Amino acid sequence: MALIKCSECGRTVSDRAAACVGCGAPVKRPSWFHGLRAFNPAPEPSTRPPPSRAALTWQAVLSMLAFVGGVVWSSAIERRASAGRAVVTVAALLVIVGLCGVIVTAVQFPWTRK
Ligand SMILES: [Zn+2]
Repeated sequence: MALIKCSECGRTVSDRAAACVGCGAPVKRPSWFHGLRAFNPAPEPSTRPPPSRAALTWQAVLSMLAFVGGVVWSSAIERRASAGRAVVTVAALLVIVGLCGVIVTAVQFPWTRK
């Protein structure tokens, strides 16, 4: 918010005011003002609702399954030395993705908020 001079009476008025408080003349904003507002719009409140409890539960279950499945798969591969490099990589990725999913879900889960 800035104070600008009324073009009619010279009184200082807020640039947010629609009209001068002294004489009622419409406040003339400097030409750069509108451009500035266009480049700097006020941050809009997020309209996206937080994920529901059911969605988070599913996310948690899927992440857990990916993690546990990856761990089980990895240990199964270890016993079989002939496993290919791609299979080992996919199993390791499954463990990592599952673990990340569990952590993200734990952070999002409603037990931290009301
Ligand atoms: Zn005025």
